[in-house]
Amino acid sequence: GSTIGILGGGQLGRMLAMAGARLGLKSHIYCPDADSPAFQVADGHTIAAYEDQAALEAFAASVDAVTYEFENVPATTAEILARHKPLRPGARALAVSQDRLTEKTFMRDLGIATAPFADVASLEDLKAALSDIGTPSILKTRRFGYDGKGQTRIDTADDAAAAWQAVGETPSILEGFVDFEAEISVIVARDTDGHVAAYDPARNAHRNHILDTSTVPSGYDATVEAEARTLAEKIATELDYVGVMGVELFVTSTARKLVVNEIAPRVHNSGHWTTEACAVSQFEQHMRAVAGWPLASPARHSDAVMTNLIGDDVTDWLSLAREPQAGLHLYGKGDARPGRKMGHITRISPKA
Ligand code: ATP
Ligand code: MG
Ligand code: MG
Repeated sequence: GSTIGILGGGQLGRMLAMAGARLGLKSHIYCPDADSPAFQVADGHTIAAYEDQAALEAFAASVDAVTYEFENVPATTAEILARHKPLRPGARALAVSQDRLTEKTFMRDLGIATAPFADVASLEDLKAALSDIGTPSILKTRRFGYDGKGQTRIDTADDAAAAWQAVGETPSILEGFVDFEAEISVIVARDTDGHVAAYDPARNAHRNHILDTSTVPSGYDATVEAEARTLAEKIATELDYVGVMGVELFVTSTARKLVVNEIAPRVHNSGHWTTEACAVSQFEQHMRAVAGWPLASPARHSDAVMTNLIGDDVTDWLSLAREPQAGLHLYGKGDARPGRKMGHITRISPKA
């Protein structure tokens, strides 16, 4: 059997390792943090910094292919690993998704709709971008933002200086505000032979800038759903992607057009429902692709609502555990800090 190396030891790595185990795939987690949720379920682990070349080489030597559960893998880390073993998804997917300017430029070059955007490297750039794009708009750091961190909404051009300060005067992009009716996401997989398989789009709702629920079906008609899947498949194919990717989209209010917001080169929180509602989850699908195996069907057999369990939201785990048609997942994290993802629950019902 193969061993898959996974960079990152959070809940995504944990669920990847668990899904791989069903297929007899072993997992080796690499993470600097000694209390990583993924260590509890993996076959092996390394505690070392992502920049530690010797540790990375030893890790690569002990596995058959390498993947990751977070998008901010340093480029040099990716390069060292890729010299020794297949890195899936590859360096291009990382480069495109780590930088919002590169990401949006990539979409535009493919003819895929995005919010209007402009490169902002200075306050002068921001003022020029505001006169082009207008308000409301959102200033986002190019790199390292998540859960709405590193971004600020701009309602009037007078707020330019304050906004530039709010993002720490770091390289950013200005995005025009998309008037959306809903946010949806597509989880798409691509294998080493280039086959693609997209799961049904989910409709996502956020609370305090953190994903709260993902619901399937999305409520959109077959045309919108097919278009969303096609966009995700096109992005995966253009990136020569191997593995599972999350694609976040807006459905615009008036015309119900699809606008791509961002991509994540990994399994995605908005795809957790696939564990209960499909024969093969996004996690197993990813492990299959990374191992060079064929993909399974992404068909959905049930309707589902996935709800994240954040911080100390939930104290009565037993009442959740008593629900008969729900998959409860607890990530084994000790300390319920505010905003921390502690688990999730997916409630299923027969497909309507
Ligand atoms: P994630 O945690 O999903 O990685 P993030 O911090 O990378 O989030 P985005 O997904 O780009 O940031 O933005 C966070 C949220 O802000 C979006 O889900 C959406 O609700 C809103 N948003 C972002 N960009 C725009 C936009 N151009 N127009 C309207 N709303 C937006
Ligand atoms: Mg993001
Ligand atoms: Mg997002």
